[in-house]
Amino acid sequence: MALFGKRKKPDEENKWVKCKKCGSTSYIEDLADNYWICPNCGNYFRISAKNRISITADRDSFKEFDKKITTKDPLNFKDLKPYKDRLKDAIKKTHNKEAVVNGVCTIDGEPCVLSVMDFSFLGGSMGYATGEKLIHAVEKAMRMKIGLVIISASGGARMQEGILSLMQMERISAALYKLSEKHLPYISVLTDPTTGGVAASFSMLGDVIIAEPNALIGFAGPRVIEQTIGRGLPEGFQRSEFLLEKGIIDLIVERKDLPKTIGNFLRYFGEYTKND
Ligand SMILES: [Zn+2]
Repeated sequence: MALFGKRKKPDEENKWVKCKKCGSTSYIEDLADNYWICPNCGNYFRISAKNRISITADRDSFKEFDKKITTKDPLNFKDLKPYKDRLKDAIKKTHNKEAVVNGVCTIDGEPCVLSVMDFSFLGGSMGYATGEKLIHAVEKAMRMKIGLVIISASGGARMQEGILSLMQMERISAALYKLSEKHLPYISVLTDPTTGGVAASFSMLGDVIIAEPNALIGFAGPRVIEQTIGRGLPEGFQRSEFLLEKGIIDLIVERKDLPKTIGNFLRYFGEYTKND
């Protein structure tokens, strides 16, 4: 994923990207023009926050805020590697200081606060600073009286921050409650993968919950569930299409149609709440 961040001046060897599903290689610029979808098999590539913003927000409209907020190492945590080193590597790889990027922009002409999670930053895991940034996004939407759009891509809680990570689920949920009291819309977009604490909190609290096709969405992984309940799981379990059928999400939207769909919802809710 790191090479996506270098799109402007890719090294010669980084100009080609291989599809993990079908093995075909695509020229990076062609892939970008195709919304990071494999032209051969239709597989959706996981994309960096920067590239996600470039295909979602209206051109040149995205104004980032909270850029300098970064996480601390409150527990002085070390597993195979010190957490501090993992953070340094993630910052270097993604050019972001956290697993979420906040900004104000227009999407299909509609102003909103947009927060995009970056899976290539420590698996999009949610630490204290990630939570803080998401809360700032909610507060910004309330101050500006505009809608909020969060695009999730996350492995869940950030283990290296222990309980402080888990607390973010409650903090963000409480902030979103205040947003709903102000009758401002929150549109949640789930991308591959949206799992763990993120799936168990704010990503499922949208006024509208949209998912990309075939995204893995769930709390615990299928293997863990199979081991726990001692039986197999149905075909397509925890994929967008299965969750739509069961009523967990509201709609599945192709990547190229996301800006128009998000814009339509922002317009709809804007009309609905105009006289509040
Ligand atoms: Zn492919």
